[in-house]
Amino acid sequence: MGKKSVYADNAATTRISQSVLDAMMPYLTEQFGNPSGVYSTGRRAKRAIETARQKAALALGCEPSEIYFTSGGTESDNWALTGTYRALAPEGKKRIISTVIEHPAVLNTLEYLKTQGADIVLLPVKGNGRIDPEELKKAVTPDTALVSVMAANNETGVIQPVEEISRICAEHEVLFHTDAVQAVPHMHFELSYSGISMLSLSGHKLHAPKGTGILYIKNGISVPQILFGGAQENGLRPGTENVASIAGLGRALEDLFPDHENRNARISALRDRLAEGLLKNEGVIMNGDRENMLPGHCSISVKNADGEKLLLMLDLKGICASAGSACTSGDSEPSHVLKAMGVKPDYLNGSVRFTIDEYNDEEDIDYITETFSEILKKAAR
Ligand code: PLP
Repeated sequence: MGKKSVYADNAATTRISQSVLDAMMPYLTEQFGNPSGVYSTGRRAKRAIETARQKAALALGCEPSEIYFTSGGTESDNWALTGTYRALAPEGKKRIISTVIEHPAVLNTLEYLKTQGADIVLLPVKGNGRIDPEELKKAVTPDTALVSVMAANNETGVIQPVEEISRICAEHEVLFHTDAVQAVPHMHFELSYSGISMLSLSGHKLHAPKGTGILYIKNGISVPQILFGGAQENGLRPGTENVASIAGLGRALEDLFPDHENRNARISALRDRLAEGLLKNEGVIMNGDRENMLPGHCSISVKNADGEKLLLMLDLKGICASAGSACTSGDSEPSHVLKAMGVKPDYLNGSVRFTIDEYNDEEDIDYITETFSEILKKAAR
Protein backbone atom coordinates (compact mmCIF):
# COMPACT_ATOMS: atom_id res chain seq x y z
CA MET A 1 0.00 0.00 0.00
CA GLY A 2 1.48 3.38 -1.00
CA LYS A 3 1.62 6.27 1.42
CA LYS A 4 -1.45 8.44 1.40
CA SER A 5 -2.25 11.40 3.57
CA VAL A 6 -5.38 11.17 5.72
CA TYR A 7 -6.42 13.78 8.24
CA ALA A 8 -8.62 12.14 10.87
CA ASP A 9 -8.20 14.51 13.83
CA ASN A 10 -11.09 16.88 13.22
CA ALA A 11 -12.00 17.14 16.91
CA ALA A 12 -8.56 18.69 17.46
CA THR A 13 -8.99 21.20 14.66
CA THR A 14 -10.41 21.51 11.16
CA ARG A 15 -9.13 23.05 7.97
CA ILE A 16 -10.50 26.47 6.99
CA SER A 17 -13.06 25.99 4.23
CA GLN A 18 -12.79 27.94 0.98
CA SER A 19 -16.06 29.69 1.70
CA VAL A 20 -14.77 30.84 5.12
CA LEU A 21 -11.48 32.00 3.62
CA ASP A 22 -13.37 34.00 0.99
CA ALA A 23 -15.45 35.64 3.72
CA MET A 24 -12.28 36.57 5.64
CA MET A 25 -10.08 37.86 2.82
CA PRO A 26 -11.49 41.41 2.47
CA TYR A 27 -10.79 42.07 6.16
CA LEU A 28 -7.24 40.78 5.90
CA THR A 29 -6.55 43.04 2.92
CA GLU A 30 -8.35 46.25 1.85
CA GLN A 31 -10.91 46.44 4.65
CA PHE A 32 -8.37 46.36 7.43
CA GLY A 33 -9.83 49.27 9.40
CA ASN A 34 -10.43 49.26 13.13
CA PRO A 35 -14.14 48.61 13.68
CA SER A 36 -14.22 51.45 16.21
CA GLY A 37 -13.04 53.92 13.50
CA VAL A 38 -15.45 56.47 12.05
CA TYR A 39 -14.03 56.25 8.49
CA SER A 40 -15.48 53.94 5.88
CA THR A 41 -13.03 51.01 6.17
CA GLY A 42 -13.69 50.95 9.92
CA ARG A 43 -17.44 51.13 9.38
CA ARG A 44 -17.27 48.23 6.93
CA ALA A 45 -15.33 46.18 9.47
CA LYS A 46 -17.96 46.99 12.10
CA ARG A 47 -20.69 45.92 9.67
CA ALA A 48 -18.87 42.63 9.06
CA ILE A 49 -18.92 41.91 12.81
CA GLU A 50 -22.62 42.68 13.12
CA THR A 51 -23.40 40.53 10.06
CA ALA A 52 -21.44 37.65 11.62
CA ARG A 53 -23.35 38.15 14.87
CA GLN A 54 -26.65 37.88 13.01
CA LYS A 55 -25.51 34.74 11.20
CA ALA A 56 -24.36 33.17 14.47
CA ALA A 57 -27.68 34.04 16.15
CA LEU A 58 -29.63 32.52 13.27
CA ALA A 59 -27.56 29.33 13.39
CA LEU A 60 -27.92 28.99 17.16
CA GLY A 61 -31.57 30.04 17.40
CA CYS A 62 -31.02 33.08 19.62
CA GLU A 63 -30.86 36.87 19.50
CA PRO A 64 -27.79 38.68 18.07
CA SER A 65 -27.53 40.56 21.39
CA GLU A 66 -26.84 37.22 23.10
CA ILE A 67 -23.69 36.53 21.03
CA TYR A 68 -20.28 37.64 22.36
CA PHE A 69 -17.19 37.04 20.25
CA THR A 70 -14.19 35.71 22.16
CA SER A 71 -10.78 34.23 21.37
CA GLY A 72 -12.10 30.65 21.47
CA GLY A 73 -13.56 27.88 23.57
CA THR A 74 -11.05 28.31 26.38
CA GLU A 75 -11.84 31.97 26.91
CA SER A 76 -15.59 31.37 26.66
CA ASP A 77 -15.39 28.65 29.34
CA ASN A 78 -13.21 30.83 31.59
CA TRP A 79 -15.60 33.75 31.24
CA ALA A 80 -18.77 31.73 31.89
CA LEU A 81 -17.42 30.05 35.02
CA THR A 82 -15.36 32.85 36.53
CA GLY A 83 -17.86 35.59 35.67
CA THR A 84 -20.78 33.66 37.14
CA TYR A 85 -18.86 32.79 40.29
CA ARG A 86 -17.82 36.42 40.83
CA ALA A 87 -21.43 37.54 40.36
CA LEU A 88 -23.04 34.99 42.66
CA ALA A 89 -20.45 34.22 45.37
CA PRO A 90 -21.19 37.49 47.23
CA GLU A 91 -24.81 36.25 47.58
CA GLY A 92 -23.48 33.11 49.23
CA LYS A 93 -23.89 30.98 46.09
CA LYS A 94 -20.52 29.29 45.98
CA ARG A 95 -21.25 25.82 44.66
CA ILE A 96 -20.44 24.93 41.05
CA ILE A 97 -21.44 21.48 39.81
CA SER A 98 -19.61 20.04 36.82
CA THR A 99 -18.32 16.64 35.68
CA VAL A 100 -15.07 14.72 35.90
CA ILE A 101 -14.82 14.45 32.10
CA GLU A 102 -14.77 18.16 31.20
CA HIS A 103 -12.10 19.68 29.00
CA PRO A 104 -9.12 21.26 30.84
CA ALA A 105 -10.54 24.69 29.92
CA VAL A 106 -13.32 23.95 32.43
CA LEU A 107 -11.49 21.69 34.91
CA ASN A 108 -8.55 24.04 35.37
CA THR A 109 -10.81 27.08 35.71
CA LEU A 110 -12.66 25.20 38.45
CA GLU A 111 -9.33 24.46 40.14
CA TYR A 112 -8.63 28.19 40.14
CA LEU A 113 -12.11 29.02 41.48
CA LYS A 114 -11.55 26.53 44.28
CA THR A 115 -8.66 28.74 45.43
CA GLN A 116 -11.16 31.64 45.47
CA GLY A 117 -13.47 29.79 47.84
CA ALA A 118 -15.72 27.93 45.39
CA ASP A 119 -17.26 24.63 46.46
CA ILE A 120 -16.67 22.45 43.40
CA VAL A 121 -18.62 19.22 42.91
CA LEU A 122 -17.60 17.00 39.99
CA LEU A 123 -20.18 14.41 38.97
CA PRO A 124 -18.96 10.97 37.93
CA VAL A 125 -19.91 9.32 34.62
CA LYS A 126 -21.20 5.83 33.93
CA GLY A 127 -19.31 3.30 31.84
CA ASN A 128 -21.00 4.69 28.71
CA GLY A 129 -19.52 8.14 29.39
CA ARG A 130 -22.81 9.85 30.40
CA ILE A 131 -23.71 11.42 33.72
CA ASP A 132 -26.70 10.20 35.70
CA PRO A 133 -29.15 13.14 36.01
CA GLU A 134 -30.23 11.73 39.39
CA GLU A 135 -26.72 12.46 40.68
CA LEU A 136 -27.12 16.04 39.51
CA LYS A 137 -30.45 16.38 41.32
CA LYS A 138 -28.77 15.18 44.53
CA ALA A 139 -25.86 17.61 44.15
CA VAL A 140 -27.94 20.79 43.63
CA THR A 141 -28.27 22.83 46.83
CA PRO A 142 -29.74 26.30 47.51
CA ASP A 143 -26.20 27.69 47.41
CA THR A 144 -25.50 26.38 43.90
CA ALA A 145 -24.40 29.16 41.54
CA LEU A 146 -23.93 27.18 38.36
CA VAL A 147 -24.08 23.80 36.66
CA SER A 148 -21.54 23.35 33.84
CA VAL A 149 -21.79 20.14 31.82
CA MET A 150 -20.27 19.72 28.37
CA ALA A 151 -22.75 18.97 25.57
CA ALA A 152 -20.43 16.35 24.05
CA ASN A 153 -17.05 15.06 25.09
CA ASN A 154 -13.97 15.85 23.03
CA GLU A 155 -12.32 12.44 23.49
CA THR A 156 -15.24 10.05 23.05
CA GLY A 157 -17.87 12.22 21.35
CA VAL A 158 -20.42 11.02 23.92
CA ILE A 159 -23.39 13.40 24.15
CA GLN A 160 -24.74 14.34 27.58
CA PRO A 161 -28.47 14.54 28.37
CA VAL A 162 -28.49 18.32 27.91
CA GLU A 163 -32.27 18.73 27.87
CA GLU A 164 -32.73 16.83 31.09
CA ILE A 165 -29.92 18.80 32.73
CA SER A 166 -31.57 22.05 31.56
CA ARG A 167 -34.87 20.94 33.10
CA ILE A 168 -33.25 20.12 36.44
CA CYS A 169 -31.45 23.49 36.47
CA ALA A 170 -34.69 25.34 35.63
CA GLU A 171 -36.57 23.52 38.41
CA HIS A 172 -33.90 24.58 40.91
CA GLU A 173 -33.43 28.05 39.38
CA VAL A 174 -29.75 27.42 38.80
CA LEU A 175 -27.79 28.76 35.81
CA PHE A 176 -26.65 26.17 33.28
CA HIS A 177 -23.52 26.55 31.14
CA THR A 178 -22.58 24.03 28.49
CA ASP A 179 -19.25 23.67 26.73
CA ALA A 180 -20.53 22.89 23.24
CA VAL A 181 -17.19 23.24 21.46
CA GLN A 182 -17.43 19.69 20.07
CA ALA A 183 -21.21 19.57 19.82
CA VAL A 184 -21.99 22.68 17.75
CA PRO A 185 -20.44 21.36 14.53
CA HIS A 186 -22.93 18.47 14.63
CA MET A 187 -25.87 19.28 16.92
CA HIS A 188 -28.60 21.80 16.24
CA PHE A 189 -29.37 24.12 19.17
CA GLU A 190 -32.43 26.36 19.43
CA LEU A 191 -31.04 28.36 22.30
CA SER A 192 -33.99 30.73 22.80
CA TYR A 193 -36.24 27.73 23.47
CA SER A 194 -33.69 25.91 25.61
CA GLY A 195 -32.89 26.12 29.30
CA ILE A 196 -29.24 26.78 28.49
CA SER A 197 -28.07 30.02 30.13
CA MET A 198 -24.58 30.10 28.57
CA LEU A 199 -22.90 28.14 25.78
CA SER A 200 -19.28 28.09 24.61
CA LEU A 201 -18.21 27.33 21.07
CA SER A 202 -14.97 27.51 19.12
CA GLY A 203 -14.38 28.49 15.49
CA HIS A 204 -11.57 26.12 14.61
CA LYS A 205 -13.70 23.02 15.19
CA LEU A 206 -16.07 24.05 12.40
CA HIS A 207 -13.82 25.19 9.54
CA ALA A 208 -13.27 28.75 10.84
CA PRO A 209 -9.85 29.91 12.05
CA LYS A 210 -8.17 29.20 15.36
CA GLY A 211 -8.37 31.91 18.01
CA THR A 212 -12.03 32.76 17.59
CA GLY A 213 -15.14 31.66 19.45
CA ILE A 214 -18.41 32.67 21.01
CA LEU A 215 -19.92 32.83 24.45
CA TYR A 216 -23.72 32.85 24.22
CA ILE A 217 -25.26 34.56 27.25
CA LYS A 218 -29.05 34.45 27.50
CA ASN A 219 -30.58 37.93 27.69
CA GLY A 220 -31.32 38.92 31.25
CA ILE A 221 -28.38 37.02 32.74
CA SER A 222 -25.52 39.11 34.01
CA VAL A 223 -22.07 37.56 33.59
CA PRO A 224 -19.45 40.12 34.62
CA GLN A 225 -16.45 40.56 32.37
CA ILE A 226 -13.12 38.92 33.14
CA LEU A 227 -11.07 41.09 30.77
CA PHE A 228 -10.83 44.84 31.24
CA GLY A 229 -10.27 47.47 28.56
CA GLY A 230 -12.34 49.20 25.90
CA ALA A 231 -16.04 49.16 25.17
CA GLN A 232 -16.14 46.41 22.56
CA GLU A 233 -18.78 43.63 22.69
CA ASN A 234 -21.22 45.71 24.69
CA GLY A 235 -18.47 46.62 27.14
CA LEU A 236 -18.14 43.02 28.30
CA ARG A 237 -15.32 41.66 26.15
CA PRO A 238 -12.79 44.39 25.43
CA GLY A 239 -10.03 44.32 22.82
CA THR A 240 -9.93 45.26 19.14
CA GLU A 241 -12.07 42.70 17.40
CA ASN A 242 -10.52 39.93 15.31
CA VAL A 243 -12.62 41.09 12.37
CA ALA A 244 -11.52 38.63 9.68
CA SER A 245 -11.87 35.63 11.99
CA ILE A 246 -15.26 36.81 13.24
CA ALA A 247 -16.44 37.19 9.62
CA GLY A 248 -15.11 33.66 8.99
CA LEU A 249 -16.87 32.26 12.04
CA GLY A 250 -20.17 33.81 10.95
CA ARG A 251 -19.78 32.23 7.52
CA ALA A 252 -18.79 28.85 8.99
CA LEU A 253 -21.92 28.78 11.17
CA GLU A 254 -24.05 29.84 8.22
CA ASP A 255 -22.56 27.06 6.07
CA LEU A 256 -23.12 24.42 8.73
CA PHE A 257 -26.86 24.31 8.93
CA PRO A 258 -28.68 24.18 5.60
CA ASP A 259 -27.35 20.67 4.99
CA HIS A 260 -26.83 19.67 8.59
CA GLU A 261 -28.63 16.35 8.62
CA ASN A 262 -27.21 15.07 5.33
CA ARG A 263 -23.75 16.08 6.43
CA ASN A 264 -24.12 14.26 9.75
CA ALA A 265 -25.53 11.17 8.02
CA ARG A 266 -22.60 11.08 5.60
CA ILE A 267 -20.05 11.53 8.38
CA SER A 268 -21.61 8.89 10.62
CA ALA A 269 -21.73 6.37 7.76
CA LEU A 270 -17.97 6.90 7.34
CA ARG A 271 -17.40 6.64 11.09
CA ASP A 272 -19.39 3.40 11.26
CA ARG A 273 -17.37 1.94 8.41
CA LEU A 274 -14.21 2.96 10.28
CA ALA A 275 -15.41 1.50 13.59
CA GLU A 276 -16.40 -1.82 11.98
CA GLY A 277 -13.00 -2.05 10.26
CA LEU A 278 -11.05 -1.28 13.43
CA LEU A 279 -13.11 -3.55 15.67
CA LYS A 280 -12.32 -6.56 13.46
CA ASN A 281 -8.87 -6.57 15.04
CA GLU A 282 -8.45 -8.66 18.17
CA GLY A 283 -8.14 -6.72 21.42
CA VAL A 284 -9.76 -3.55 20.09
CA ILE A 285 -12.74 -1.96 21.84
CA MET A 286 -14.67 1.22 21.13
CA ASN A 287 -15.11 3.72 23.96
CA GLY A 288 -18.43 5.39 24.73
CA ASP A 289 -22.14 5.05 24.11
CA ARG A 290 -22.65 4.67 20.35
CA GLU A 291 -26.34 5.49 20.70
CA ASN A 292 -25.43 8.93 22.05
CA MET A 293 -22.32 9.91 20.14
CA LEU A 294 -21.32 12.68 17.76
CA PRO A 295 -21.24 11.34 14.19
CA GLY A 296 -17.51 11.73 13.53
CA HIS A 297 -15.97 10.35 16.73
CA CYS A 298 -14.33 6.95 16.95
CA SER A 299 -12.33 6.48 20.14
CA ILE A 300 -10.85 3.01 20.43
CA SER A 301 -8.56 1.27 22.90
CA VAL A 302 -6.17 -1.53 22.07
CA LYS A 303 -5.36 -4.09 24.74
CA ASN A 304 -1.83 -3.84 26.18
CA ALA A 305 -0.79 -1.27 23.57
CA ASP A 306 0.93 2.09 23.78
CA GLY A 307 -1.32 4.71 22.16
CA GLU A 308 1.54 7.16 21.56
CA LYS A 309 3.49 4.49 19.64
CA LEU A 310 0.44 3.62 17.58
CA LEU A 311 0.04 7.30 16.71
CA LEU A 312 3.66 7.55 15.57
CA MET A 313 3.25 4.46 13.41
CA LEU A 314 0.07 5.90 11.93
CA ASP A 315 1.88 9.17 11.27
CA LEU A 316 4.62 7.31 9.38
CA LYS A 317 1.83 6.08 7.10
CA GLY A 318 0.47 9.61 6.66
CA ILE A 319 -2.49 9.25 9.05
CA CYS A 320 -3.22 12.04 11.57
CA ALA A 321 -5.11 10.90 14.68
CA SER A 322 -4.67 11.63 18.37
CA ALA A 323 -4.39 9.88 21.70
CA GLY A 324 -7.34 11.60 23.29
CA SER A 325 -7.76 15.32 23.44
CA ALA A 326 -5.31 17.59 21.65
CA CYS A 327 -4.70 19.33 24.94
CA THR A 328 -3.67 16.27 26.90
CA SER A 329 -1.66 14.47 24.21
CA GLY A 330 2.02 14.86 24.91
CA ASP A 331 1.61 14.05 28.58
CA SER A 332 1.89 10.35 29.21
CA GLU A 333 -0.91 10.17 31.80
CA PRO A 334 -3.80 7.99 30.67
CA SER A 335 -6.92 9.91 29.70
CA HIS A 336 -8.95 11.24 32.65
CA VAL A 337 -12.07 10.66 30.57
CA LEU A 338 -11.45 6.97 29.90
CA LYS A 339 -10.36 6.45 33.50
CA ALA A 340 -13.59 8.03 34.71
CA MET A 341 -15.55 5.68 32.44
CA GLY A 342 -13.88 2.73 34.10
CA VAL A 343 -11.93 1.54 31.04
CA LYS A 344 -9.85 -1.41 32.24
CA PRO A 345 -6.15 -0.71 33.02
CA ASP A 346 -4.88 -2.97 30.21
CA TYR A 347 -6.81 -0.85 27.68
CA LEU A 348 -6.11 2.58 29.18
CA ASN A 349 -2.76 3.30 27.56
CA GLY A 350 -3.70 2.06 24.11
CA SER A 351 -6.32 4.65 23.21
CA VAL A 352 -6.50 6.29 19.79
CA ARG A 353 -9.09 8.83 18.70
CA PHE A 354 -10.04 9.20 15.04
CA THR A 355 -12.43 12.02 14.21
CA ILE A 356 -13.97 12.13 10.76
CA ASP A 357 -15.59 15.00 8.90
CA GLU A 358 -17.03 15.83 5.51
CA TYR A 359 -13.59 16.16 3.93
CA ASN A 360 -12.99 12.42 4.44
CA ASP A 361 -14.18 9.73 2.06
CA GLU A 362 -14.46 5.93 1.93
CA GLU A 363 -10.99 5.61 0.46
CA ASP A 364 -9.58 7.38 3.55
CA ILE A 365 -11.49 5.08 5.85
CA ASP A 366 -10.31 1.92 4.08
CA TYR A 367 -6.75 3.20 4.11
CA ILE A 368 -6.96 3.78 7.88
CA THR A 369 -8.46 0.37 8.67
CA GLU A 370 -6.01 -1.54 6.44
CA THR A 371 -3.03 0.40 7.81
CA PHE A 372 -4.18 -0.05 11.39
CA SER A 373 -4.48 -3.82 10.98
CA GLU A 374 -0.97 -3.96 9.50
CA ILE A 375 0.39 -1.91 12.40
CA LEU A 376 -1.24 -4.17 14.98
CA LYS A 377 0.08 -7.29 13.22
CA LYS A 378 3.58 -5.79 13.19
CA ALA A 379 3.32 -4.85 16.88
CA ALA A 380 2.22 -8.41 17.76
CA ARG A 381 5.27 -10.00 16.07
N1 PLP B 1 -13.73 22.60 25.17
C1 PLP B 1 -13.68 21.49 24.43
C2 PLP B 1 -14.69 20.40 24.66
C3 PLP B 1 -12.70 21.33 23.45
O1 PLP B 1 -12.64 20.21 22.73
C4 PLP B 1 -11.77 22.38 23.25
C5 PLP B 1 -10.66 22.23 22.28
O2 PLP B 1 -10.19 21.14 22.02
C6 PLP B 1 -11.88 23.53 24.04
C7 PLP B 1 -12.87 23.61 24.99
C8 PLP B 1 -10.93 24.68 23.87
O3 PLP B 1 -11.26 25.43 22.72
P1 PLP B 1 -10.17 26.38 22.04
O4 PLP B 1 -9.16 25.50 21.40
O5 PLP B 1 -10.96 27.19 21.04
O6 PLP B 1 -9.63 27.25 23.11
